[in-house]
Amino acid sequence: MTRTIEELIPDYLRGLPVYVPGKPIEEVERELKIHAVKLASNENPLGPSPMAMAAARAVLGESNRYPDGGTHALRQTLAERHGVSAEEIFIGLGSSELIDLAARVLLRAGVQGLTSEGTYAPFSVAIRASGAELIRVPQRDFAFDLKAMAKAITPKTGVIYLANPNNPTGSAFGREEFDVFLAAVPDGVLVVLDEAYIHYAMSMGLGDSVEAYRQRKNLLILRTFSKVYGLAGLRIGYAIGRPDLLSAMNKLRTPFNTSGVAQAGALAALDDKEHVARCIAANAAERRRLSEGLAKLGFRPVASEANFVFIVVGPDAKALSDDLLQMGVIVRPLGWMGFPEAMRISVGTAEENEKCLSAMAHVILKRAGKGELAAR
Ligand code: PLP
Repeated sequence: MTRTIEELIPDYLRGLPVYVPGKPIEEVERELKIHAVKLASNENPLGPSPMAMAAARAVLGESNRYPDGGTHALRQTLAERHGVSAEEIFIGLGSSELIDLAARVLLRAGVQGLTSEGTYAPFSVAIRASGAELIRVPQRDFAFDLKAMAKAITPKTGVIYLANPNNPTGSAFGREEFDVFLAAVPDGVLVVLDEAYIHYAMSMGLGDSVEAYRQRKNLLILRTFSKVYGLAGLRIGYAIGRPDLLSAMNKLRTPFNTSGVAQAGALAALDDKEHVARCIAANAAERRRLSEGLAKLGFRPVASEANFVFIVVGPDAKALSDDLLQMGVIVRPLGWMGFPEAMRISVGTAEENEKCLSAMAHVILKRAGKGELAAR
């Protein structure tokens, strides 16, 4: 037999882009020998809840045992909280695993996966990795064009991926617009609604998407403990969805996908309502400071409903990000997400945001002096 291992890798996997994570802060500090701030991965700058840390620490000593593979306590608590049954809750290794599992269960060659341009890149990766055809609908004003997406549904469409609020633009759609969209989706098409940043958008009156799920069971809602709960490093998230779908996803997941430490941390984080409220309030105040500061520098930030701010800076976006990096401010240039002229800045603490704004003022002044700054 003359076949090689490389030939075994299907063509649709060879062409997939590699996920580009934000640069680790330690690496930047080591390379540049300066104190750095990381505003590149939409993490919670206030850290985990002290209650979550205590709960995680308390079970660390049981790490010689496998965790509860059925995640019973956490599923039960989440079920009560959302008014669904425990069979309608699925715990994943971050919401990242859930994005992937939904595609692996429902998509294959000959089926289409639909999403938008300018949204979270792993949606497209999950669709393509399943062998399905990826269909991406252009955005409108840096937001999902739900009307155009509804029109793009065909008899071949299997799954539609949406993020609300959207990463990386920070825009969000309201309940009314979503209901109109859902009404246009046939029962045999699953809508994956990724709500990683939903806590930061509560003021929009988005309503409870679980209510929409109760009415239309072709909805899979994804939530994560990585953002407002401050547990990105523990890797845990959950889905709310129909039991037949979740049970198929359950067959594909790795047997003990979430650690006991993560489960305990998540359970306690749910109870610390004060921490969640503090994080939401701090984010709202700091998001305003960052957006207003960027506007004063001549940028036009997209109105953000999340914990980051999106700005178009012009063709030199990557160079500008590199200049900021040299000053110890790590932001995300967005070429890999389809916006070569934009960057995304996560909302940090007051001190981090001030550092970011003054570094930004410095680099744009320097570039303007050299005549390098493109029109914004
Ligand atoms: N979905 C969106 C829209 C995100 O922006 C992110 C992370 O940034 C995730 C999912 C992944 O989160 P998790 O840490 O739960 O895997």
